[in-house]
Amino acid sequence: MIVKKLNELSSEDLKVLLSREIGIQDVLQRVNDIVMDVAENGDEALRRYTEQFDGVRLESFRVSDDEIEEAYDAVDESLLRSLELAAQNIYAFHDEERTKDLWLYQVAPGVVAGQKVVPLESVGAYVPGGRAAYPSSALMCVIPAKVAGVERMVVCTPPDRSGRISPLTLAAADIAGADEIYKLGGAQAIAAMALGTESIERVEKIVGPGNIYVTAAKMLVRGSVEIDFPAGPSEVLIIADSSADPEFVAADMIAQAEHDPSSIAVVVTTSEPLAKAIETEIPSQIEKAERRDIVQASLERCAILLAESLDDALAFSNAFAPEHLELMVRDPMDALNLVRSAGSVFLGHYTPVAAGDYATGTNHVLPTAGYARIFSGLNIDAFTKKISIQSMTADGLESLADAIIKMAESEGLRAHAESVRIRMRR
Ligand code: NAD
Repeated sequence: MIVKKLNELSSEDLKVLLSREIGIQDVLQRVNDIVMDVAENGDEALRRYTEQFDGVRLESFRVSDDEIEEAYDAVDESLLRSLELAAQNIYAFHDEERTKDLWLYQVAPGVVAGQKVVPLESVGAYVPGGRAAYPSSALMCVIPAKVAGVERMVVCTPPDRSGRISPLTLAAADIAGADEIYKLGGAQAIAAMALGTESIERVEKIVGPGNIYVTAAKMLVRGSVEIDFPAGPSEVLIIADSSADPEFVAADMIAQAEHDPSSIAVVVTTSEPLAKAIETEIPSQIEKAERRDIVQASLERCAILLAESLDDALAFSNAFAPEHLELMVRDPMDALNLVRSAGSVFLGHYTPVAAGDYATGTNHVLPTAGYARIFSGLNIDAFTKKISIQSMTADGLESLADAIIKMAESEGLRAHAESVRIRMRR
C-alpha cells in the first residue's frame, strides 16, 4: 500500500494510480479466435466452449419456464423480498431519469424543431457468473432497459458444472423483466449475442460487466453491435476529512478489495491522524475478512494519501476519475460541486458503496480505469436513440431561405439550394 503525501507522489506512483489498465491485450488473440469460431460454427462452437470453460455439455442454451419456476422455489423467501425491494428502487430511479418521449420548440416563427426518443428493439445483458453469482447485475442491466421500453431483453450468464444457473440470478433476471435467458458465459456469449447463432437471435447492443474475456469480446464485436463501455477491476476513491470515522473508511476499502485481487481502493485525506488511524485499522479488519487472500492482494495496490486541502483532494479525484467516489467530509454537498469525473458518488458517512451496489436504486454498472472521464454509468440513455424532427411553414422556410441557399452554394451543392428556391417560387 502506498502511504504518502499527495504532493510527494513519484511519477511511478502516479502512473500506477492514474493509468489503470483493463489489461485485455494479453487475451485479445485468444478471444478473437473464439469470436471467429462462433461466427463460423454457431451453436456447435458454443457447445464446445461451454464444455471447455464451464465444464458442461449443453444441448439447449435457453432457460425454460419450468427452470425459472424452480429457481423461485429454491430461493429463500426473505432474499426474494430483498431482490424485489432493490428492483423497485432501481425501477423508480431510472423512471425518474426519463425525459420526454417527444419534444418540440419554436426556433423562429413557422420553424419548429425537436426530438423523438425511441427505445432500441433488442439488447443483450451479460450477467457475470464465473466465480460468483451476480443477481444484482441482472437487475441493474435489465430494469433500465425495460424502463426505456426495450422490447426484447436477452440475458446471458454462464452455467455451473451441472448445467444450471444460480437460482438467485435466474429469479433476479425474471423479476427484472428479461424476455430470454441463456446459459452461456464468457466471450462465446458476447459473440453469440453480437452475431447470432441458430439458437440466439442477434441483438442491437450489449451491456453489462464481466471478466477480462467478456470485456475483450465486447471490444472486438463493437461495430457489429453497440456496447456500453469497457469495464475493468472495480475501484473506490474515498475523500475524507477529520470528521470521518477510520473504521468506516477501512471497512469500505476492504469491501472494495474483496471483489478482485486487482481492485483498487484509495483514500485521500486532509487529516494526518485519520490517515494513521486508517492504517492501524485495516490489518485488524483484514483478520476478520472472509476473502482475506483476495483483500490482501488487492490492498497491495491501494493507497492512503495526505492532501493539503480538500480542493487538492478533489483535483486528484477528478484526474483519477474513480468508478465509485465516497465523500466522507463535513459538507459533502459542497465538495460535490467540485466533482467533475466519477461513475457514482456516495455522500456522507452513512452512504457506503455497498448501498449503491444493491439498493439505493442507482446503477452499479459503472466505468472503471479512468473511463469515468468520458463515459457515464449505465442509464436509460444507453437503451434509447434520439431522432431529430423539424417542421416549417412557407413563411418559416422563407425566413431561413437566404442562409440555406448561401451555405449550400458555398459547399457546391446547387441542388440543395434549388430545393429551397423551388418552394420560394410558389
Ligand atoms: P464471468 O461470467 O465474467 O466469466 C466467466 C466466463 O469466463 C466463463 O463462462 C468462461 O467462458 C470465461 N473464461 C474463463 N476462463 C477462460 C479462459 N481461460 N479463456 C477464455 N474464456 C474463459 O465471471 P467471473 O470470471 O466471475 O468475472 C466476473 C467479473 O465481473 C469480476 O471481475 C467482477 O469484479 C466483475 N463484476 C463487475 C461488476 C460491475 O458492475 N462493474 C458487477 C459484477 C461483477
